[in-house]
Amino acid sequence: MYIDSHTHLDFFQDNIEDAIREINDNKILTLANSMDIESYLKNKEYSKESEYIKPSFGIHPWKAAEYKGNLEVLIPYIDESEIIGEIGLDFLWVEDKSTFDKQREIYNFILKESIKRNKVVSLHTKDAEEEIYKSLKMYNYNKAIIHWYSGDIETLDKFIELGCYFTISVDIGYSDRTKEVLDRVPIDKLLIETDGPTALEWVNGEYGYPSEIIKVYEKVSEIKGYKIEDLINIVEKNYYNLLGS
Ligand SMILES: [Zn+2]
Repeated sequence: MYIDSHTHLDFFQDNIEDAIREINDNKILTLANSMDIESYLKNKEYSKESEYIKPSFGIHPWKAAEYKGNLEVLIPYIDESEIIGEIGLDFLWVEDKSTFDKQREIYNFILKESIKRNKVVSLHTKDAEEEIYKSLKMYNYNKAIIHWYSGDIETLDKFIELGCYFTISVDIGYSDRTKEVLDRVPIDKLLIETDGPTALEWVNGEYGYPSEIIKVYEKVSEIKGYKIEDLINIVEKNYYNLLGS
């Protein structure tokens, strides 16, 4: 089975029915990451239409500054969600530095509560790779998906050493850095993702439907010299190892 280890179904908006149809037709196990509570509730609704959709709760760093509630309110969502994401820090795309402390407050809270519950966390690390690494290292925690890593190689190696998992995204074949990440990540820590319809648009201008995951698998298997069926099995095993760890 294909596994899309990081996407955003609520980004499909009016195209959501087509997206869910593709997920069902191609049997793509889909980790539907959330941006905030509202986005998580939408993902939960979508999951009623597909046994392949797994909603995960998180507050994305881009949404951190907008969150005005008490952090304790988030606990029931953390409790009920098997995987937590998307959480993290973003000091690259978020230009307003005044949000950074709020990002940290929310990220550190959700991370700590997730670790207490031994949950998998899906992490956004843009220009905050070292800080995210330290936050995991402090707890020696590696039940983490480092999503679309694009930082420096030195920090990548530290995440690898810690035993984290990594997604390769739709820019494989376009980005030298992503190719380098794929070269370095141990094969038993490899996952694959699409990151929603807009990620591919950012890479090459095309709108990325869920079946785009097949193309990412094809490119990765070509680069690694695996048959596609073998890569499907490897990623599936990795995913279940991560969940069961
Ligand atoms: Zn994302």
